[in-house]
Amino acid sequence: MHGALLEALSRVVAADRLVVDPDVLASISHDDAEWAPVGRAAVGVRARSEADVAAVVRVCAELRVPVVPRGAGTGLAGGANAVDGCVVLDLARMDQVLEIDRDNMVCVVEPGVVNNDLKAAVAELGLWYPPDPASAAWSTIGGNVSTNAGGLCCLKYGVTRDYVLGLRAVVGGRSGYGAGSGYGTVARLGRRTTKGVAGLDLVGLFVGGEGTLGVVTEVTLRLRPQPAGPARTVVGAFGSLVAAGSAVSLITSRGLSPSVLELLDRTCLVAVEEWKHLGLAADAFALLLARVDTPGSSGDAEAAAIAAAMTDAGAQWASASSDSVEAEALVEARRLAYPALERLGPVLTEDVCVPRSRVPQALVAIEEIAARHGVTIATIAHAGDGNLHPLLVTPPGDDAARQAAQAAFEEMIDAAIALGGTVTGEHGIGLLKRDGMRRELDPAALAMQDAIRQALDPLGIFNPGKA
Ligand SMILES: Cc1cc2nc3c(=O)[nH]c(=O)nc-3n(C[C@H](O)[C@H](O)[C@H](O)COP(=O)(O)OP(=O)(O)OC[C@H]3O[C@@H](n4cnc5c(N)ncnc54)[C@H](O)[C@@H]3O)c2cc1C
Repeated sequence: MHGALLEALSRVVAADRLVVDPDVLASISHDDAEWAPVGRAAVGVRARSEADVAAVVRVCAELRVPVVPRGAGTGLAGGANAVDGCVVLDLARMDQVLEIDRDNMVCVVEPGVVNNDLKAAVAELGLWYPPDPASAAWSTIGGNVSTNAGGLCCLKYGVTRDYVLGLRAVVGGRSGYGAGSGYGTVARLGRRTTKGVAGLDLVGLFVGGEGTLGVVTEVTLRLRPQPAGPARTVVGAFGSLVAAGSAVSLITSRGLSPSVLELLDRTCLVAVEEWKHLGLAADAFALLLARVDTPGSSGDAEAAAIAAAMTDAGAQWASASSDSVEAEALVEARRLAYPALERLGPVLTEDVCVPRSRVPQALVAIEEIAARHGVTIATIAHAGDGNLHPLLVTPPGDDAARQAAQAAFEEMIDAAIALGGTVTGEHGIGLLKRDGMRRELDPAALAMQDAIRQALDPLGIFNPGKA
């Protein structure tokens, strides 16, 4: 079978785009999710164009071979993991910014453009692409769109979904009106205007679709003007995670709107400091890091009000400053927390989201679960969104610790559902949250999802086994 597949692919894509070397193929066959199952891919294709993607999808449909799209492989749910016998379709080399329309504040990009590269390109024209997952230095726009990635400033500026106006995708199933299979059809979805309601929101289906409905080959994104002036930073130190969580609830209920409100516990701070020596004071049990980008005196007042809310919620100290060096060190610490912890052993990343008023209860539940299972949990959080990332750190090669971490992971999912939350705030379902999704969603919603998938991919070749 592999021989026939390789032969068919060789007829439609250039030889230097095919990946057959087993080590290279293995390296592009998984994402960053710890312990998510990885199958054995048959072949990899490093697509350079939409035509490559369409040709690969046609061949795969003909031979009934699964297609697993891949951006940078920074996903944390196993979404880009190979399934047995699949083609891993690597989009990272489709990395051109095709157009930046300054007048209309819109850009058009290929899916392999790295988030930070896009930010840099539009910044040259005084524009800003806000969604900023902590993986922005590596993750691609195609991956961000397919997972509906969030990030640090989503609290004020929204998630990836809020910026996707239109896209092109290579699709299958009932995408053609003519006879025969629609696999390999290029569909142009959405628009490039600020408003528009013609037809159902098909773009919305692909945002967060995790490669299960087709392969995104081009994205049209909304941009914003660069924020005016430097941001103020407010830092609060707390004697417990729960006190920090109470401050988050208070900031929210007082109607304050920081552009960033992140939480880091001491385990994270120590791990980053020991690795990067940023000069962080890692003596508090938890730190809350807020940013305010409202210009002028209103911004000063907002920063002071956030510091006051932290103090009222029991902070050991809280201070607002415009010292950009200190602020950058803390934001950097937040971004580096995950790789810093990975140096200590395998890290299973949880990603639950609860209503913001329930952040304190969720943090209590996490501590109880950690204690009950004897698991080391370092917590970082896009706290202002109620999006918590307890990171379960295990000693390398310790099977009992792995099992305890996996049990704790499932219990945290149940705790989030019980608090009126969701099993994934931003990392997606992939392989790790399939059961959790079934526990969370209404049966009618699950049935509608299955029906959509059946209509758009009746052969079941687009990222099968993922959701
Ligand atoms: C250190 C670190 C920090 C992170 N921080 C955040 C964060 O703050 N917020 C957040 O939301 N996530 C975060 N993540 C998770 C991850 O970076 C995001 O999910 C990101 O959007 C994945 O992009 P990627 O290019 O790596 O995609 P991949 O991991 O390669 O793929 C992700 C999913 O998208 C599908 N896919 C990829 N490209 C396409 C395409 N062109 N067409 C169709 N399907 C496609 C894949 O099949 C897979 O299901 C973090 C990860 C790491 C390692």
